[in-house]
Amino acid sequence: MTDGRSAGGQRIRSLTTRGMMVPLKFTLGTSAAIVKAVPLLLVDLLNEDGVTGRAYAFCYRPSGAVAISSHLVEAVDLLKGKDITPFDVTQTLSRQFALLGVTGAVRMALSLLDMAMWDATAQIQRVPLSSLLGSRPRPLLAYDSRGLGLMEPDRLAEEVKTLLESGLRAVKLRLGYPSLSEDLAALRTVRRSISGDDVAIMVDYNQALTRTEAVLRGRELEKEGIYWVEEPIAHDDYVASAAIARELRVPIQIGENFNGPEGLLRAVNARASDYIMVDVARIGGVTGWLHAAGVAAAHGIEMSSHLMPEISSHLLSATQTAHWLEYVDWADAIIEEPLKIRAGMVLTSEKVGSGISWDEAKLKRLETI
Ligand SMILES: [Mg+2]
Repeated sequence: MTDGRSAGGQRIRSLTTRGMMVPLKFTLGTSAAIVKAVPLLLVDLLNEDGVTGRAYAFCYRPSGAVAISSHLVEAVDLLKGKDITPFDVTQTLSRQFALLGVTGAVRMALSLLDMAMWDATAQIQRVPLSSLLGSRPRPLLAYDSRGLGLMEPDRLAEEVKTLLESGLRAVKLRLGYPSLSEDLAALRTVRRSISGDDVAIMVDYNQALTRTEAVLRGRELEKEGIYWVEEPIAHDDYVASAAIARELRVPIQIGENFNGPEGLLRAVNARASDYIMVDVARIGGVTGWLHAAGVAAAHGIEMSSHLMPEISSHLLSATQTAHWLEYVDWADAIIEEPLKIRAGMVLTSEKVGSGISWDEAKLKRLETI
């Protein structure tokens, strides 16, 4: 570098954030909420090389997008004019925000910054993100997570048929009806609507149950041949989760709410689940994911992704114990090149960076936050 910068460093010139409400093709009723549109926060981080790093995150609520954006603006102000790498950002900003607490919206802001910086670095190197991480873009095992919310059995039967037209051979069903018999009826409806037995069914309770109820329901559900039971109870009760994992034969899946790799490590140490799944915007971006993947690899635990499949596909491509990509098409409404599915697998983008670029014409049609 001729301008006094270290090799690999970036100087941030400007940050743009945009909150967008993205309507879903499939209304998603979970035990926690009925979701018809999702708030996404879009981040553009322009550096002094003229390269724009991009990232987006699902913000759970519109106010989440506002809070995350506000933290991001302040974080970028702290970095302006400095020669930085994603590694430095994780190190320095975690300290700056420590007293406020590096959780929730703060963690998501720092994760987004990290994701955008890694995207820019891969663009500068002219390689896909997965290649920058020492791997390459790979086709990934993926399940369809777009639909199968809590709904009438007739609609479930129709929806699973529509979902399977995508070519994926696995689906996720939301459970947490008032009774076990309703959960079983929903599962059996989905099973009956699938021709052949080569389609995996994951079930997700979105933290709806008590420990006792989780064991009672799990014992019946596991007789039906399901692939995993996700978040049966409060996401951070690792002691109770470990007890459930010991009681049931069917694997327990948790992790979308892990706060940073340290959250994942606590869950792994408590043997809270059989499988883990990581949300790139809660685990600390690309940097946090790599640390988490190291822990998973060291313990031989299968690791899946949570939402944001565009960047997660690159990260799973470079994860030693990569398991399933959670496929949703939410970002199809905002990006130029949606992910492609071939022969039951999701193809990781082979473009440089994370492969995310905004489709401004599509964005104009969306409601802003
Ligand atoms: Mg879930």
